[in-house]
Amino acid sequence: MRFLIFLVCSITILNAQTIQDCKKRFDTYLNFKGSLNGLVRFDKESISIYNAKGQKEFTAYQKEIPMLAEVFENYDPKAAAKFYKNKADKKLSKQQRDSIRIYLDIPKKTKERTEALPLNGIKVAIDAGHLASSFTEAMNEQKFLYFLRDSLKSTLDTVKIFEADLTYKTSLILKAMLEEKGATVFLTRPTQSLSTFGCSYSYWFANYKQKVLDSLLQINKLEAADYRKLNNLPEYNFFWDFFRDFELANRAKIINAFKPDITTIIHYNVDEKNVPWKKTSPNDYTMAFIGGSFTADRLDNIESKLNFLRLLFGEQLDKSEKISRIAVHEFSENLKIPIACSDDADYLKNNCLCSKSHGVFSRQLILCNKIISPLVYGESLYQDNVDECKWLMKNNTISYGIKTNERVVKVAKSYYNSILMYFTK
Ligand SMILES: [Zn+2]
Repeated sequence: MRFLIFLVCSITILNAQTIQDCKKRFDTYLNFKGSLNGLVRFDKESISIYNAKGQKEFTAYQKEIPMLAEVFENYDPKAAAKFYKNKADKKLSKQQRDSIRIYLDIPKKTKERTEALPLNGIKVAIDAGHLASSFTEAMNEQKFLYFLRDSLKSTLDTVKIFEADLTYKTSLILKAMLEEKGATVFLTRPTQSLSTFGCSYSYWFANYKQKVLDSLLQINKLEAADYRKLNNLPEYNFFWDFFRDFELANRAKIINAFKPDITTIIHYNVDEKNVPWKKTSPNDYTMAFIGGSFTADRLDNIESKLNFLRLLFGEQLDKSEKISRIAVHEFSENLKIPIACSDDADYLKNNCLCSKSHGVFSRQLILCNKIISPLVYGESLYQDNVDECKWLMKNNTISYGIKTNERVVKVAKSYYNSILMYFTK
């Protein structure tokens, strides 16, 4: 009976999707500072997508919106691209819309949630940010803090921490907490020393780089000049010019193959104004990112367009705002640090759209726009804060068999609480 009520409610919500709902989503999360005004047009009964030459490419009509939300959330990229091209400006009949929905393979929840296992049947993907498995690798990845003893007036020890280690430990603890409550958990980095390609970056560079570049050239995803340039880059530069984004896209791909109900992307922030991070900062803020903030130049390829349409028609952004709002409050309460406002960092003011939830920002990040599920991309604290760096250095706590510190455990607990609240309240 409970399941029936849930089913009826979800259908009602889906049917309630209107052009106005999409317009609201477009204004709140998607249209970065008016950048898409010439490419996306709203009428009373339809939404049209234009290309850079001003030609109409695709139109969505009011009655098609629930079906389109399902299509762009469930079709694989190839099928979705084909659908986009074939449908174009055509208006689909009720029969056509119904037959498309019938053939969609939408997974049904069957596991009963209980008081002891409130997350039974819920699939959670966890992405532990960055790659490094050692301090040396973290230096290449430029995600480390190294404060020499002399530069720290208020601390006794040299500070040496790297973000990929903190995120990895957080992900293991969070996984254990969620599994205890019945969730099925997928880690993008199940082993600390491996990238999501199942090997270290150095190994990938030596053994796979050539094959990948060759195949991208062959399928016209890489121009000849870029191919030559990339092929000649040394390992360190190649990481920044190619591998970092390529590996992020792979994270999204393996997360989407898992078909999660929710995704958490774990990062630890630094104070941007403290560059080049040779000393501590007095500041400490907490925040979270969700998808959106599309710019016209980024909407010039079919893959971005399909991500945009999925976020426009479906409820992923609204749901991401909901879980992120809970997460930011959990971070702030459990870690005792303030929630960031737009003025607290230049990237928040210049590169993001503020959602209506304090501390939650729409940002054009690869993972936020490619992952097909509600998500929270958490930046729980500033590692270079004068107190945080000392606390994060400690290895004096054991949680679920992981040796770490109180701060990491509190961050994991905050993500855990937000997932629990999101699904149970
Ligand atoms: Zn990070």
